[in-house]
Formats: sequence, C-alpha cells, structure tokens
Amino acid sequence: MDALAITDLVKRYPTGTEALRGVSLEIGDGEFFGLLGPNGAGKSTLIHCTTGLAQPTAGSIRIFGHDAIDHYEQARLAVGLAPQDLNLDWFLTAEETLDYHGGYFGMPRRERRERARELLDAFSLTAKRDDRTRTLSGGMKRRLILARALMHRPRLLILDEPTAGVDVELRLELWQYVQRINAEGTTILLTTHYLEEAEQLCDRIAFINDGAIVATGTSSELAGTYGVSSLEDAYLQLVGRGELSRASRRRRMTAAQIRFLSLVRREVNRFVKIKRQTVGAPLLETFLYISVFGAALGSRIDKLHGIDYVVFIVPGLIMMAWAMNAFSNNSSSILQQKFQRAIDDQLSSPASPLELLLAFTLGGFLRGMTVAVLTFAAAAALVGVPIENPHVLIPALFLVGFFFAQLGVLVGVRAEQFDDVSFAQTFVLQPLIFLGGVFYSAALLPEPFQTLTQFNPVYYMIGLVRYGFLGFSDANIPLSLGLLTLATAALFAINASLFRRGYKLRA
Ligand code: ADP
Repeated sequence: MDALAITDLVKRYPTGTEALRGVSLEIGDGEFFGLLGPNGAGKSTLIHCTTGLAQPTAGSIRIFGHDAIDHYEQARLAVGLAPQDLNLDWFLTAEETLDYHGGYFGMPRRERRERARELLDAFSLTAKRDDRTRTLSGGMKRRLILARALMHRPRLLILDEPTAGVDVELRLELWQYVQRINAEGTTILLTTHYLEEAEQLCDRIAFINDGAIVATGTSSELAGTYGVSSLEDAYLQLVGRGELSRASRRRRMTAAQIRFLSLVRREVNRFVKIKRQTVGAPLLETFLYISVFGAALGSRIDKLHGIDYVVFIVPGLIMMAWAMNAFSNNSSSILQQKFQRAIDDQLSSPASPLELLLAFTLGGFLRGMTVAVLTFAAAAALVGVPIENPHVLIPALFLVGFFFAQLGVLVGVRAEQFDDVSFAQTFVLQPLIFLGGVFYSAALLPEPFQTLTQFNPVYYMIGLVRYGFLGFSDANIPLSLGLLTLATAALFAINASLFRRGYKLRA
C-alpha cells in the first residue's frame, strides 16, 4: 500500500489562485521522496492539503489507505509535519512542546514523558528542556520542530524545507537522523531548495511547477528526461533557466585547453595560408602519378592480385601523401620559426614541452590527413578505390601520420638551415618511400633489395595501408602494426626528450 496516494488534487484559494491543478502522486511505503519546484509552484499547498491545513477544492488524498479528508483521524495519526516556519508556541518550554503534541495525538502520559526525553536527547536539547521556546536559538528551534513532528512516531514524515538557513553541522546532523529513521521504515516526503540534498537523499523526486507535477523519477531518470547530466540541470530546465547550468559553464574551455588549441591553430593557419604549396602541389603530384603510372603505363602492366595497376598504386599514394605532408609541415614550420625566433613566443608561454611537441605533431598530422583525404577523394573519383579492411586502415593511417609528424619534428629541431630539411627529404625520405613499394609489390624486387626492404619502416606501412584498402599485403599485418607502434613510440620518446631539454630550441 502507498504511504501517500494523491489523485487529481485541485486547490483553488478564495483569491482565485489555482495553486494545484489536478496533481496526482504516489509515494511508496518506506520511500524517501523529494518534491522540488520553484517558489510558488504549489509545494506548501500540497503539504497543507495532505495535513489538513488547507481544504482541497477537488480530488482525493489517501495516507496509508486512509482518506485524509473524510477519515482524517487515522490519516493524520500517520503523518508528522515539520513545517517551514518555526511555528512554536512561545509560552511553552521545549519539553512541554513535545508533551502537548503527544497529547494531541493521544499518547498516554508515561509514553509521552519517555518519548520526549528520548527526542530531547537525540536532538541535543536536554539542557534546554525547561527553557521557553522563544529563548532558543534558530538551530535549536529547528531541531525542536523536527522532534515535535516525530513525537507520535508517524509512519510518514513530511519535511518542508527543513534545512533552509540552517548551518552545515546541523544540516548534516538532521540528515543523519532522518536517514536513520527512513532506514528503520519511516516514509519521508521532503521539499528542499538544496538540489544536492535531494539528489543524495531521495529515492525518487517529483518536479512540480505552476501547480502541476511535470516529471517524476530517480535523479538520473529526471536528468535523462531533460537530456542533461545532473538533477540541478534538470531543475534549471524545468524553471526555464538552463543558461545557469554549471555544466554549461564547465563546458567552457580551461586555460590549458585554449592554449593547446591556439598552438595547433597556429600550425593549421600556416598551412592553410600557403595552401597552393601545402595542399595544391601534393594533389597535382598525385594526379600526375595516377595519369602517368596508372593510365599511361598501367595498361601495359598485368593486373596485380587481380587488380588494375592504377588502383594498385592508390593506397601507396595516399600513404605517401599523408607521410610526406606530415613530415614536411613539421620540419619546415619548426625550422622557419627557429630561424625567425618566432618560436620564442611559444617557448616562453606556460605551455609544457610535451604540449608544444604534441601541438606541432598534430599540426603536421592534420596537414597530412587533409592532403591524404583529398588524394583519396580524387583517386576514388578517377579510378574507384575499395576499402576492404577499415579496422586496419584507420589505425594504420593514424600511425603513419603520427610517425612522420614525429620525424618532421625531429628533423626540424635538429636542422640549422633549410638545406638540412631538403636533404632529409630528398636523400632519406623519398628513397625510403619509393623503395618501400608504393609503385610495385616488394615481392617483385630482386633478392638483395627484398632483404633490405625488411628494414624499411615504409614497407610495413604500405603493407598495412594496402591491406586496409585492397585486402592483400606483402607484410604480416599484426607484426607490421606492432613494429610501427614501437617505432612511433620510440620517435616520440626521443622528441619528448629533446623538447624537455630544449635542444636547439632554447639557449
Ligand atoms: P510553494 O510552496 O511551492 O512555494 P505555495 O503552495 O506556497 O508554493 O503557493 C502556490 C500558489 O498559491 C502561489 O501562487 C501562492 O501565491 C498561492 N497561495 C499560497 N497560499 C495562499 C493563500 N493562503 N491564499 C491565496 N493564495 C495562496
């Protein structure tokens, strides 16, 4: 049986205000139930109707099955009310307050005495038991109100904003006590403005607004109803003040996030500003490769693994685009900034060495990715490209981008003139990429080259990317992924150490 069952409750005050517009609500026996809503929503009116302090206009209220209007005696015996106002009788002492209340509820004298002593003790009021209530402090009055509500051992305890204006210790004390009696079986109906309180204490919560229950559920269900992450945000949605949400304030970026984003944006800004060179030229290159090798020569070459030669070379071209652009972006950007000492502006910022390294890495990575995606789009439009194993392709391309971005950083940091960068590009990178098998299958090479290929990291990268797109590869896939991850991590560790030491960056 429900502790409280309210059906279609309407309350119209003589002033014409309709404070409750057909409220229905069920609170189970033993529940800790929260009623939340803005001022004027109708919370007190609902409580007053339940406890006989206001006459409902229409509807029914049952307390443990007893009709609160027609058979109010049984119903009221089951309810204890701790109202919002400190409505104590000034002429009575603390103990008398409890004793009279027990009397109103029909408790015999001896039982009243024992229960009063017990409660005075529980609420640390024993020393004040003979003091008139007028002389008690605010906190003591609040405790006495709660003791009074509990005097007749109600099965349903109604707490109307019991902690408004109460200090922290008392609040915690009250909650401890209330939680204990709830655990012992007392049903609790609580209204409060402290949402954390409701969230922590209540099994279920109802939102009331403008005289109607608009949502009921656990705090996470309510958050779900409003599509937000906390009870507080759900409440703010209810009252139409979502802009006050702490979550939305928290969603604003921290200084560290702004800093990192600025570092990365600078890199992206640079390559976007010179896009003819950074994006245009590589695309033209791809186009030429596809026309020359694919269309012109390709028709004279047999199908490889049952695939047209022009399609066969596309994965290598995409990989090459990502790799070369990630590399050259970072090597040039770092060297140029060192040259102009513009890098000092970043080095003297609060960014950590690791942050700087990651920002450069990401800059090159993004340029490589941009060119690679455009290359893919062009190739797909020109010759059509399948994607057989995306689960290998995506990690493989990310690793390629990260590896070459790191390599670019390494060269950029070590380089002292532009010649150093172009030397690395022409004499190291391009041979590695060409010999890695962009334009052919490494298995076709004569013997000494085949063995050498095993030491070329690009051989594994092309293997992975080709497997990702076309579904076959010369290289062993798990081995390639493992080796590439290790190589990337090693390169990152070297760069991290250079940045930490400020090698060739700081004086
Ligand atoms: P809450 O407790 O949620 O702040 P109330 O139940 O006190 O809301 O008030 C609900 C509405 O009923 C308000 O518009 C309020 O002005 C009105 N109201 C409350 N009590 C009375 C009353 N005794 N006479 C006339 N109107 C009232």
